[in-house]
Amino acid sequence: MDTDNEHIRPNEESKEPQECCCCGPEARDSIDPGGDCPACTQTGGKVANVTVKHLVTDSAKAKVGDDDYNLCMNPDCDVAYYSLETRARFDKTDVRVPIWFKTDADPKIACYCNNITEQQVITAVTQDGLTAMNDIITHINGKMVAVCEYKNPMGVCCSRAFNEAIQKAIAQKGGCNCG
Ligand SMILES: [Zn+2]
Repeated sequence: MDTDNEHIRPNEESKEPQECCCCGPEARDSIDPGGDCPACTQTGGKVANVTVKHLVTDSAKAKVGDDDYNLCMNPDCDVAYYSLETRARFDKTDVRVPIWFKTDADPKIACYCNNITEQQVITAVTQDGLTAMNDIITHINGKMVAVCEYKNPMGVCCSRAFNEAIQKAIAQKGGCNCG
């Protein structure tokens, strides 16, 4: 049974220095303020149409249309995306991934592109001694994927939530990262 003698190779390692999983030093990790949430009245953040289309469930997708949306940033509010123009509204349950800053997000995702949870980050910091986002991602995933626009509920770089998880882990460890 001779088959091809080719080995399956792991992805070639990129040695390029990167500030985050994808977006470099110009990484955008926050969004512009948008309209108020129709449910909790807190100011939401602007999210591009493409992000909403990729993240809502198949049954909700037909209602998305072509407008850009707002994302409710209130951790305790059930609303995810809403348009004040069309009044279209999608709750957390219409979104395919847990939105990390919502109170009951489970699991808490630190990097949507690479599907890494906050708990995995904490383990990498506390048990493996890593503190850099890139090191942690390649340690867990073997490679880095960068598709924040489609995978992150905010449509921006995951680095903010990721670094928050790292800081949380360092604090748990009792270490100090304040220099
Ligand atoms: Zn809300």
